[in-house]
Amino acid sequence: MDPEERQAIIDAFRRPWVEEYTEKRPKSKQLFEDPRTRFSARTYRDFARGAPYPYYIEAAQGFTLRDVDGNELIDFGNNATALVHGHAHPYIEQAIIGALRTGTSYSGSHIYRDRLAEMLAERMPGVEKVTFAMSGTEADMYAVRIARAYSGKDKVMWFSGGYHGTYDPVHAGPTFRGYPESVEQDYLMADFNDKEGTERLIAEHKDQLAAVLIEPVQGTAGYIAPREDFLQFLRDVTTKYGVLLIFDEVITGFRWARGGAQEYYNVRPAADIVAMGKVMGGGLPNAAVGASDHIMEVIRSLPVENQAQPDRRPTVPMGGTYSGYKLGCAAGIAALELLTPEAYERLNGLGARLIGGLKSVCSELGVKAQVSGDASIAGIHMTDKDVWNGEIARNVDAQLNGLVRFGLLRHGVIWGTGGLSLNTVMTEREVDEAVEALRETLLEMRPLLQRVAPEMVG
Ligand code: PMP
Repeated sequence: MDPEERQAIIDAFRRPWVEEYTEKRPKSKQLFEDPRTRFSARTYRDFARGAPYPYYIEAAQGFTLRDVDGNELIDFGNNATALVHGHAHPYIEQAIIGALRTGTSYSGSHIYRDRLAEMLAERMPGVEKVTFAMSGTEADMYAVRIARAYSGKDKVMWFSGGYHGTYDPVHAGPTFRGYPESVEQDYLMADFNDKEGTERLIAEHKDQLAAVLIEPVQGTAGYIAPREDFLQFLRDVTTKYGVLLIFDEVITGFRWARGGAQEYYNVRPAADIVAMGKVMGGGLPNAAVGASDHIMEVIRSLPVENQAQPDRRPTVPMGGTYSGYKLGCAAGIAALELLTPEAYERLNGLGARLIGGLKSVCSELGVKAQVSGDASIAGIHMTDKDVWNGEIARNVDAQLNGLVRFGLLRHGVIWGTGGLSLNTVMTEREVDEAVEALRETLLEMRPLLQRVAPEMVG
């Protein structure tokens, strides 16, 4: 079909949805267009989810988010999956308030930091020591730096469509500006779930390759799970060629299971270095990188003979005004305490219900969309092709994906980065509402698909 004609059909389909959205959200529109809001640069954080402008958020509690126009939505975004207990959880709130009374942050040692460090090391396989950061981006940056310092090699391999934050060597790509051209020498890219290609690349570059960095489940790309034993294969093949393995557990850590994706997918021995974030901050900024004592030696800036006397020449520089952020540690401790074995069982049970429900809706309606995901997060890709890695996901029709997100939003369901994530205060009812929202959306979209993507309707 002629692209212009196709576009006109999609625009005409979308128009009543836009009108309805605009009618329901006059205050958000006003705020979005108010000259006084122009000072905040509009970024991807101004989620519109296919809508003409973002709704402005007024308040959130549990799984419910209310916009300034009084619309209530079920928040399956959970701030990019971080809020595993939803918004303003009373137990976490109390922990934050308790810690707040004695100050928000210190530039020195404190027990909140050390208690959380202990909890991370107890839970995450292979982690004997951690150092804190403020964001997943920073945790991944430190992970790469530790790998380089430890191995004496420079390159890092990651997987197409993967997301590890915005540190140059693990984010640069043809679609982004602002990175020096020389960054291309710093990384190699393989395809997720492609054993043969990955091993070939590792073998060829092993002498320059410090580490392979992987999200155990490609999150931002749409929750694409590892196939068969891909993660175990990667563990074995990195060991075989003397390359470090970094697991980016920023999403999966403490969400998939107590011991993250490593435990969930039974990867042994553990990854060499682990980046952590999101859930471990309990809704406040907090992140960490961890490894064995032996590897973590490279960041030690205190001489053993006098632990209280800082060495003026640290090996791998670490630090940051807010690293080991007291309130973030207090909230993180509370969030991890709430993640009991029963909580995981319930959360992942709801995840199975969600993924199963979304799949059933697609097959009942004869729409060949791909439902991905695992544990407590699901993704949807508007293509009839099998989506087994981020590169394939990246090439799916963005407009059709956008319409699904917009459709869910119209039915009161917020789509997060890459998919629908659950939290521990949700119940079967919220899960079923998301499934129903997809049913309504696809029912409405079916005639459109018949015209612009007939291969998807059977
Ligand atoms: N790694 C992964 C797997 C992520 O999903 C993200 C963020 N979505 C990051 C790293 C970066 O974390 P942050 O946004 O906290 O910098």
